[in-house]
Amino acid sequence: MIGEVLLDQRVIAGIGNIYKCEALFAAGVDPRTPVAQLDSRALEAIYAAAHRLMAASVEGAAPMVGSPRRDHAVYGRTGKPCLRCGSSIACYSLGDPPRWTWSCPICQPATPLSRR
Ligand SMILES: [Zn+2]
Repeated sequence: MIGEVLLDQRVIAGIGNIYKCEALFAAGVDPRTPVAQLDSRALEAIYAAAHRLMAASVEGAAPMVGSPRRDHAVYGRTGKPCLRCGSSIACYSLGDPPRWTWSCPICQPATPLSRR
């Protein structure tokens, strides 16, 4: 699942749980999507979103460390309305070791955009 791969430091270094959740929201991808179902365009969108969010954090524009903050779109926002569509943000355990993961069921559909 893409949500696990983004935390695998052998694949890509530096993306923690917060950026995993936020980048997948920005790219509109469900964290439980098998990587094999994602095309290169979707993967590039995910990495670009992670890069943009992490760079903004370094510059102090959008700090994303510590506890959930109001500038997070999904991270730590269980049951709160999605900033884009108003749906309730879902929270579930994902991966091994399990990590809490947040996503929007509408903005991050189980079927990737490219497969619809
Ligand atoms: Zn949404």
